[in-house]
Amino acid sequence: MNSTRPKPPFNKNKTPLLELKTPVQYVKGVGPTLGEALAKHGVKTVRDLIEVFPRTYEDRRSGIKIRDLKLDQLVSMKAQLIKVQSIPLGRTHRRIYDITLQDSSGVIHCKFFRVPYKGYFERFKPFQDIRVVGKVIDYRGRLEFHHPDLRDIDPEEELQDEVIPVYVEMEGISSFKWQKLIRFALSLLMKNPENLKFDTLPVSVREKAGLIGYFDAIQAIHYPAKDKYTEYVESRSPSHQRLIFEEFFLLEAFLYSKKLRLQKENSPIYQSDGKLKAHVIASLPFQLTRGQLNAVVDIENDFLSGHPMHRLIQGDVGCGKTLVAFLAAVMMKENSYQSCIMVPTEILADQHYKNAINYLSGHGISIALLTGKTKLSERRELFENLAAGQVDLLIGTHAVLEDDVVFKNLSLVVIDEQHRFGVNQRAKLKAKGPSPHFLVMTATPIPRTLSMTVFGDLDVTVIKELPPGRMPIQTRAIFQNKQGPALDFLKQQIQKGRQGYIVFPLVEESEKIDLKNATEEFDRLKQMFPDLRWALLHGKMKPVEKEEIMVAFKDKKFDVLVSTTVIEVGVDVPNANIMMIEHAERFGLSQLHQLRGRVGRGEHKSFCILIMGYAVNEESRERVSFMEKSTDGFEIAEFDLKIRGPGEFLGTKQSGLVSFKIADLIKDQDILFEARKYAADVVNKDPGLEKSENIFIKQHLLEKKNADIG
Ligand code: ADP
Ligand code: MG
Repeated sequence: MNSTRPKPPFNKNKTPLLELKTPVQYVKGVGPTLGEALAKHGVKTVRDLIEVFPRTYEDRRSGIKIRDLKLDQLVSMKAQLIKVQSIPLGRTHRRIYDITLQDSSGVIHCKFFRVPYKGYFERFKPFQDIRVVGKVIDYRGRLEFHHPDLRDIDPEEELQDEVIPVYVEMEGISSFKWQKLIRFALSLLMKNPENLKFDTLPVSVREKAGLIGYFDAIQAIHYPAKDKYTEYVESRSPSHQRLIFEEFFLLEAFLYSKKLRLQKENSPIYQSDGKLKAHVIASLPFQLTRGQLNAVVDIENDFLSGHPMHRLIQGDVGCGKTLVAFLAAVMMKENSYQSCIMVPTEILADQHYKNAINYLSGHGISIALLTGKTKLSERRELFENLAAGQVDLLIGTHAVLEDDVVFKNLSLVVIDEQHRFGVNQRAKLKAKGPSPHFLVMTATPIPRTLSMTVFGDLDVTVIKELPPGRMPIQTRAIFQNKQGPALDFLKQQIQKGRQGYIVFPLVEESEKIDLKNATEEFDRLKQMFPDLRWALLHGKMKPVEKEEIMVAFKDKKFDVLVSTTVIEVGVDVPNANIMMIEHAERFGLSQLHQLRGRVGRGEHKSFCILIMGYAVNEESRERVSFMEKSTDGFEIAEFDLKIRGPGEFLGTKQSGLVSFKIADLIKDQDILFEARKYAADVVNKDPGLEKSENIFIKQHLLEKKNADIG
């Protein structure tokens, strides 16, 4: 009768009938205010809510006392709060919070180096009973908790099971509140048998992979069995296995379908006798490396396939990716097709343009440059030439995305330093041609697990070798007390006519404790070495200013460039041979590797000096020292991924793809490889996902596709 029931979904008796897609506000006890708070954290539907997974599990059976605590122990215990102290840190605005707890056996301190949320500390009163959940650590010979969960004792909460899930606490939503909300929603969901049919993983996959069903997994993850505590706390329970697998499986199914779909598109027909390409290669002042040749072969095969290329070229800084892109453009020219290379900065565009003129214009290839600086009068002419097909290769910044830029037959789109662009920018450029070939280039070596997830829809070519004759960069990691001799060394090199960089992690002191401030340090260095010519570059400057300084540096108008990490990617200053990095321990290794790649581009022996602060721990010291041992970007990236996690490798715009709810790219690699195989198999056998057992996958992919414009 009432089959077209409107939302919110109440039945006649006004008891809510929850579905997975019901907005979370309709869960009893949520309402608009909490609903908004939840939405801020990505929880919009009932399904989102039940997929808020516990951060860990808590075993309350031990009844442990402070005196018995052991190093590295993960505990949940009751204690009495004695006092909250806030201790200012040096001259900064920052404070440490120190909370003293006691029980009948002793005293322990909890330290907080940041405030979890506004009002967090104000809520505590002396002598209140409290539950503390955290890991016991050793701080200067004393056992402490750092950033534990501190919870008011909730009599209701204390009554419950002995092994409980712990959720990430946030403003207004305590772990226990999460637990109650989730369990309540789950109980209502399970009353409706229709809901229980839901499972994104097809039965066939589940059976073969030995995985439990969706609701079984969800149920158990929120209601852990107490005799399975260890399994749960180590994320190895059957529920974890299943949910981690699912998360990878859906991502891989998405990427694989996208890849298949792209493979079905037709691209402009490519035919060639390869003469022009051969002429260009023969006229180069050097030989292509094997890696460059392989890349060219991969690209040519893509062109010949009849379908648009979707290729990522990964290769260390200086391996010569630009030339590979040029040769791809040359191949397009053989069929009178146009190409466009987009780069993130004007200085890079200029650099590429000059090189292209140098290598290609003698072969009848017409090249144009378009940046924010291109004058209006020149633009008009350029646009006409582009539309008439008189420009073969357009090199430019994001200015090439403007609507006025219209090609006659754009067939190759190249994005250099791809992490600097967003998906929509890439899509916009692609849309300027009918299914153009697509080539993206990156100098950030990305470990395989990551590239499989982030670039799973792209084919990958890796250029391993650097052009011959490059002198290896000598790298040293030193402590701050050796900075003086290092600066003297820098001065010596400059007196020999070289140039150098000094890089700092941040511009403003207020952001980090006792970090040298690039500006302050710049003034100090200038005073120390008044006969050297110094320039300063930092993130707060306007792009035009930054460019001017880079260009002046390239033209040898300065000896030393002091900068934050904004030194332009890909810029070639062959005369610079020293890279000095302050507080090297604050950088990711891949970033250090990128920075190091700024030198060693010319004929002079180059040096990289990594300066570590006094306060570095053993782990950071080892990490930084790894740079002395390795110059292989991939090896460095793998090492860094293990230690620092995936955020390091990706621009913020891409990090979304690797923010998993429960899966962990590093710990769960095996499951990733497994899930990927199954995903490809399912999509291959049923590309349209028409089979009934694949219906939930199809739904998921449709939702995802709407959110993904790329
Ligand atoms: P990246 O891969 O970092 O973008 P570039 O394309 O900027 O590297 O190349 C770095 C430098 O190496 C450029 O000056 C380029 O002319 C030069 N180069 C490229 N290929 C070769 C080669 N095969 N032999 C020698 N030098 C090369
Ligand atoms: Mg480059």
